[in-house]
Amino acid sequence: MDNGLMIKTKDLLQQGEQSILFTAVRPGVVMERGSGMYLWDTNGEKYLDFIGGWAVNCLGHCPPVITKALEAQSRELVNASPSFYNKPMIQFAKLLTEYSCFDRVFFCSSGAEANEGAIKLARKYGSISHNGAYEIITTTNSFHGRTLATMSATGKKKWEGLFEPKVSGFKHVPLNDIDALINAINPNTCAIMLEPIQGEGGVFEVEANYIKAVREICDEQEILLIFDEVQTGIGRTGTLFAYEHYGIEPDVMTLAKGIGGGFPLSALLTKEKFNIFEAGEQGGTYSGQPLAMAVGMAVMKEIIEKDIATNAQSKGNYIVKKLNELKNEFSLKDIRGKGLLLAIDLSAAKGSKITSECFKEGLIINSPQPSTIRLIPPLIVTEKEIDDMLQILSSVLKRVL
Ligand SMILES: *Cc1c(COP(=O)(O)O)cnc(C)c1O
Repeated sequence: MDNGLMIKTKDLLQQGEQSILFTAVRPGVVMERGSGMYLWDTNGEKYLDFIGGWAVNCLGHCPPVITKALEAQSRELVNASPSFYNKPMIQFAKLLTEYSCFDRVFFCSSGAEANEGAIKLARKYGSISHNGAYEIITTTNSFHGRTLATMSATGKKKWEGLFEPKVSGFKHVPLNDIDALINAINPNTCAIMLEPIQGEGGVFEVEANYIKAVREICDEQEILLIFDEVQTGIGRTGTLFAYEHYGIEPDVMTLAKGIGGGFPLSALLTKEKFNIFEAGEQGGTYSGQPLAMAVGMAVMKEIIEKDIATNAQSKGNYIVKKLNELKNEFSLKDIRGKGLLLAIDLSAAKGSKITSECFKEGLIINSPQPSTIRLIPPLIVTEKEIDDMLQILSSVLKRVL
């Protein structure tokens, strides 16, 4: 490796350790450049990226459609103000409503912010149509974000007792347990919010019968059904949106991650019936920001035109098939997921050891739980890149297990 580059990297890392607020343990590299399925660090080392910015870079790193959209829009209008309509805002909202079951879109910048909007919408609905009901039922092991309300909505054991007092009004029930859900509903319930596939929790999917029953209960009791599709939306699971797999429609859906392909962007989508905010009750300085709108639209058009959701489905099937061939050799306990949101359960709690060993060999994967590996690559991944990933992964599994 180039000695001069390594000295520069060491300096950068030292500066980073001194000036970045500590919130995460990060490996001792500095990422500098990306293209397609690959990242390069400041030492010139190359990494095959099967996390893709945490299920964000759906078109890979630096896709030309994003560069082009940013370039063109930055010459036209970077920011007007959320109090004005702008052209890409209207066009993108139209595109999203055309390709989903929803009628209205509110744009924001992160998944947590979109979920905050959904929580506020549910409470607004409760206050005007449900005798002041404000409780929202979510699932244990769920993940909805890191703002105070979305942390309170999140059903993560590790966060219990953190940043107390939490925002009140959230109840957690186990996923796919319809009796637990029915027992949790009371006159104060205004909404049920869930991920169709729990992502950060370790890739656990709703059962088709369960979600159909949940839809029926919500209809009967006039409770909002909110899908957090921050991770599952925009082609990730093999359809444009994950709700399409189950033959039901939620009332409200949130999108983030893949929607901007790496640009900070999120959206709250609702049916016409829930277009109930009064002026000023919901907003944000960057709502409908033209650069974000242009990028989001370019990403979604590319996904639709190139039928990238279908690629996610077929490449996901290919990974599962190949992993099944390795199942016995490495005593893998479970391989699950949909499209390119996949998890492998190991027979030992060696997830973080495996991810760090893979990283040393130039492969980026993730371990959301101690004995689980998660694969969430860009949706443009090819069979060749999958074969390369599996070669590194199996050599590491051979060594570590
Ligand atoms: C990542 C994630 C969020 C939070 O999104 P941010 O953009 O990090 O705020 C919320 N819900 C789900 C399902 C997620 O995967």
